[in-house]
Formats: sequence, structure tokens, C-alpha cells
Amino acid sequence: MILMGYVRFLLSIAAVSVLSGCAGSNHLGSNNLRAGIDPNNASTVASHSVASSPAATIRPVAKITSVSPADKLIALTFDDGPRPYVLFGRKAVHPAPGLVDILDQNGVKATFFVVGWRLTPKTWGEPKHEEDIGVSCLDAAEQLIRRGHELEDHTYSHLELRSAEKKNGEQWVMHDVDRGAQAIKAVTGTQPRYVRPPDWILTDDARRDLQKQGYRVLTISQENPIALRDVNSLDYLCAGKAVGCPKPSLPDAVLQQIEQRERKGTYTHILAFHELSTTAAIMPKLITELKARGYRFVTLTEYMKLVETKGEIPKQQAAVTKPTSVAALSR
Ligand SMILES: [Zn+2]
Repeated sequence: MILMGYVRFLLSIAAVSVLSGCAGSNHLGSNNLRAGIDPNNASTVASHSVASSPAATIRPVAKITSVSPADKLIALTFDDGPRPYVLFGRKAVHPAPGLVDILDQNGVKATFFVVGWRLTPKTWGEPKHEEDIGVSCLDAAEQLIRRGHELEDHTYSHLELRSAEKKNGEQWVMHDVDRGAQAIKAVTGTQPRYVRPPDWILTDDARRDLQKQGYRVLTISQENPIALRDVNSLDYLCAGKAVGCPKPSLPDAVLQQIEQRERKGTYTHILAFHELSTTAAIMPKLITELKARGYRFVTLTEYMKLVETKGEIPKQQAAVTKPTSVAALSR
């Protein structure tokens, strides 16, 4: 089954809708408008989308008896934080449960691709868009580690790296990734290994050079084994005005993507979400459904170890990435 899955990834090309991987904004200039997101309204929309996305729309799939539960893995990942009001919940304006509590209650460990500039002292997020709940981003990061989650690198600036490279040169890009890694290392004590470039956009040269330095770059490129391709949840389209939010609901759409991958023989998935209130709100339902389908939740490091150990991905293949076609799509 696993071998078949590997062979089939070579044959199969799933059209992945790529608009923009990053819902958030950066401190140098908000791209919320580009992404169509107004984080101020995020929790309002969250309660809406939960209310209007009936559980009945999640269709159970036929039980696949040939796949052992031990082989069905999910690495839940969240980009753009730490955002304390998402992680620990809003109290004043739009009360909402925190993502970390939701994960804890479900016994799920996740991986957070955090933005380096947030991990500086006395940083509470973006004042215009993010509710200050009295917890700094740095405190939030420390708490994530204490609670067993993983932190990985989403750059320091959160700028789109191809444009940044054009403007400032490749060395700037390398430095931005490294600076993000250093900020994480200052919290965790260990060097992060995985990098997800904002919007998954990176030049081939920068990708190769990052890999030479020991980073593994997360990708949605179809040239990679399917088990190593991020599932783009499109959750950023469900925040703010929710223009373009997948139908009939975000959890349904994610489950449909998983079913498509299962039909190609792949039962291991890296799910790419963002730290958004709307995303936190759908997690209980999505986690429950995936568990019911026999999936087990692991951190990204465990995921990679398990997927490679099982031989689904030849190790030398795991590092091969060629994002050109994806990069072209994503703009
Ligand atoms: Zn991002």
C-alpha cells in the first residue's frame, strides 16, 4: 500500500488551489487587505461559520481496513503567530476559546511556524489588528513549548521572499530565515529545522542554499512526494469577510482534500493552517472527525521521522524541491 502510494504520487497531479498561503501580515506593512482578512472580525466570523457549517455536511468515508491506524498521520501546523489572543482566547471583545486549550483538550500536539519579529520582548502582536490579552508573543511561545508543541521557522520579517530577494539579494533572504531561527532557538534552546516560506514562495537558488545549510523547506510543489506536500487548508479565506471560504465549510473542504490524497494511496498529511480565531473555532470538529477516521496527530518532527522510517519517502527525495511552477501559480 505504501509503495503503491509512493508510485502513484509520481503519476498523479492534484490541482492545488494556491492563492496566498499567509493570512497574516507583517510588521513592515500589513497585507491583510491583499489576503482579504480583517482579524478584528475574525471571531465574529468564526461564530458565524461554525453556526452555518452543519456537522451533517461532513460525510463519513468508507472504512479502509488495509491501512493500519499507525500509518495514518496528521501533522497539524499553524503559521503566522504566536498570536496570544488566538492561542489563549479572547476575553473582552469577542470571547472565544483558545487554540492551545482546544489542542490540549483533544490530546493533540501541533507545530507552529512562528514569525521571528514577534519573539522580541514586549511584543504583543499587531496593535491595530490583534487584541492585547496581556500575554506577550514571547510568553506565548514559551508556553507552547512547555505544553509540548513544536516551533518552526516562518522567517523573521514575514516578507514574501522572492520579491525580497529581487530587491535585497539572496543573502538577505538567508539572513531573514536565520534570524527567524535564532529567535526560536532563544526560546526553545534548539535550532529549528523546518522552514515554511511566506506564501510558499522562494527562488530555486535560495531553496537550494537553505537546504545546504540544513534547513528543510516546506512546499506545495507537485514535484515532491505527496506525503511531503503541505495541504493548503485555505483557512485564511475564512477570516474577516470570509470571501472565498471553501464550501460547504472549511472542515469539509479539508476533509475532501484528505480524501483525494487517500484515493492516491496517501494516508499521511501535513495540514497548513494559520493562527486565526476562525481556524481555532473549527478545530474541535475537524480533530474529532479525523480521529474517527483513524488518524493520529503528531508534531512535524515526528511526522517526518515516521514517514521516512516507513519508507514512504526515500530520504534523498525528501529534500528535493522545485517550487517554480507553484510560485508561478501563487501570484
Ligand atoms: Zn505566513
